[in-house]
Amino acid sequence: MSAQKQDQAFGDKPEEVRDTDHYLEEYNEGFVDKWDDLIDWDSRSASEGDFFIQLLKERGCKTVLDAACGTGFHSVRLIEAGFDVVSADGSPEMLAKAFENGRKRGHVLRTAHADWRWLNRDINGRYDAVICLGNSFTHLFNERDRRKTLAEFYSALKHDGVLILDQRNYDAILDHGYSSKHTYYYCGDNISVYPEHVDQGLARFRYGFPDDSVYHLNMFPLRKDYVRRLMTEVGFQKIETFGDFKETYRESEPDFFIHLAEKQ
Ligand code: SAM
Repeated sequence: MSAQKQDQAFGDKPEEVRDTDHYLEEYNEGFVDKWDDLIDWDSRSASEGDFFIQLLKERGCKTVLDAACGTGFHSVRLIEAGFDVVSADGSPEMLAKAFENGRKRGHVLRTAHADWRWLNRDINGRYDAVICLGNSFTHLFNERDRRKTLAEFYSALKHDGVLILDQRNYDAILDHGYSSKHTYYYCGDNISVYPEHVDQGLARFRYGFPDDSVYHLNMFPLRKDYVRRLMTEVGFQKIETFGDFKETYRESEPDFFIHLAEKQ
């Protein structure tokens, strides 16, 4: 792994990089090549089981916009479960990898290059569901971008559509420090994931791989109730929050929260 590939343009003061647009530098070719080692498709499928498939089926969803498709994990799972999926992402590197991963599994993904803030400029139609998974919404660094994104998700949905959006349990990290059993999302072997810096405006995570390559993501530490409030304020009528794929959980226990926001 060359130093060039690891360069994510954080500069001399990485903790000062708190910019929504910077995800494009962070998901460079090197990190995108490593992403599937990090998420490990087989163990991730085993951990989450049919959780999202069931949520979508129970609500009669057929068309799904995977708004943060990354390398295509959920797009492929949902296509294989019979859903009609469009795979969008703001990173061209991620979209290329998702397409390649789809081809390897015998699918031709319908991809769309779209930044969430201008989503409806770049995608067509209305969907039964929009999904934004894998702790993606955390890349938005200011409230205007979060509101704009949720409003774009809302308008990409049919009148009775649902948004499924997940996030790390930052409340626990901010209030009690980091602890993760790495069971649910980041399942790859021999990969270390931990926050190098946390304050109220930044969670900077370090991802170390067995070949000694190291990447970082700078993310905004979203509090759970804040996200629920924003969803309500843009117009979602009912919001249900699960902890690590369960309906009941103790507040500090889950690694991840999953919000299901219904439009009607
Ligand atoms: N959903 C995938 C998964 O679970 O493996 C990828 C998750 S990755 C943490 C976050 C994804 O969100 C990246 O693919 C990134 O390019 C995308 N992303 C971040 N900010 C974005 C934005 N403003 N518009 C569109 N995509 C964005």
